Amino acid sequence: MPSFDPLRVGPEPRDPEQKFWDPEAQTQSVDERRRLQDERVRTLIRRVLEMPVPLFAEKLESAGIKRAEDVAGVDDLARIPLTHKQDLRDSEAEHPPIGKYRFTDLRQCVRVGQSTGTTGTPTTMIWTRKDVWVEYESAARMFWRAGHRPGMMATHAHPAYLYGGGLMLSGAYEYFGICNLWVPPPETDDDAEKGIRAWMRFRPDIPFVGFSLGRFYEVIAKLGLDAKKDVRLEIPSMGGGGKGMGLMTAGLECYAYLGGQCGQSPGAHLHDDWAIVQAVDPETGRDVPDGEWGNLVVTTLDRDNGVLRYDLEEACAIDRAPCPCGDTSIRGFWGGRFKDLLSSQGVHFQVAEIERALRSVDEVTQPSLEFVVVRPRDDQRDAPLRLRIELAEGDPDDVGRKCAGAIVESVGVRAEVEILDRDSLPRSAFKTNRMVDD
Ligand SMILES: [Zn+2]
Repeated sequence: MPSFDPLRVGPEPRDPEQKFWDPEAQTQSVDERRRLQDERVRTLIRRVLEMPVPLFAEKLESAGIKRAEDVAGVDDLARIPLTHKQDLRDSEAEHPPIGKYRFTDLRQCVRVGQSTGTTGTPTTMIWTRKDVWVEYESAARMFWRAGHRPGMMATHAHPAYLYGGGLMLSGAYEYFGICNLWVPPPETDDDAEKGIRAWMRFRPDIPFVGFSLGRFYEVIAKLGLDAKKDVRLEIPSMGGGGKGMGLMTAGLECYAYLGGQCGQSPGAHLHDDWAIVQAVDPETGRDVPDGEWGNLVVTTLDRDNGVLRYDLEEACAIDRAPCPCGDTSIRGFWGGRFKDLLSSQGVHFQVAEIERALRSVDEVTQPSLEFVVVRPRDDQRDAPLRLRIELAEGDPDDVGRKCAGAIVESVGVRAEVEILDRDSLPRSAFKTNRMVDD
């Protein structure tokens, strides 16, 4: 009869006072880590060629890499052509259901998921036990750095089932030893109320922060409750955006817990024993100088399944300067998806920057900020940026002027604001689409 062994279902306990979750990995010397990365890159290349993994093997062949010995390590990655999401989609369409870019069979895995498909046909994600474990260990480093400890209670409202994000986060919390209060995404007011009532009953230590926060605020107001006093919800400080962005993710299809905010220095420490992260000039495939924006390109290491030179088509910058916190990994900055990048009147910016500006206008944040930006067409680049913003109470002309003023001040573009009644814009239970085409 098997007996219960806590170490078989979870990690070894740590001293809550210690600085890092995994000191051995996180404070490894830069030279040692480089040797480890070189070795893991060679193993990855050998597996691609020997299994083979056709999609990546073709990329290697086109770079003249025919044998594992042709690659010494990290420096050789720049020779290998990039892989894009469309390559994965095409591969899955031609060779259903999982394409020709996998290192294992589907039935060697323990988990399968699908991307949300918000940016096109969904792609399929598969994880072996080891792949899941790498994510859990990575998440644990991030939780620990953020001050979370086993014995706390956290809550979230990620979608479930085929979308793997909710299960991944729930599993990571449970593995870490945090009590996981998973409430439904607020598809309807009833769902939102279930979550709100659960928070009032269980009082999680790590308050809810998520994509659908605005929806919960709305329903809290409808229920006649006070978000702060009754539910203990607080609008998170909008310190993120641009180069300050703390969390680094490369998405579930690549590496969900790629890195976490340092807290002491700007940016996120990247788990670079399990991934080579590059900021790449897409024209040349070469790394851009440290500190400059390039395309976020990830090669995952030491997993059962993985990706080689995967270009997420998102902006990333790298800082290799030693960090006083003691974590020896490199730091990364996430600058958003290129397709979410807006351009108006010669200024390039993210929707998040508009959101930050609008949060300074109290009238439009009650009970939740609801707005959309009309994506400027190419022939409208010099015209004012058009926005639609909901307002519950107040003089529309006056509030519209305030919003436009906040935007010109912090983003530097002129804006034309149309004020709408409450509940005019569509709501979402997960990722809200802030950009519309006219
Ligand atoms: Zn640091």
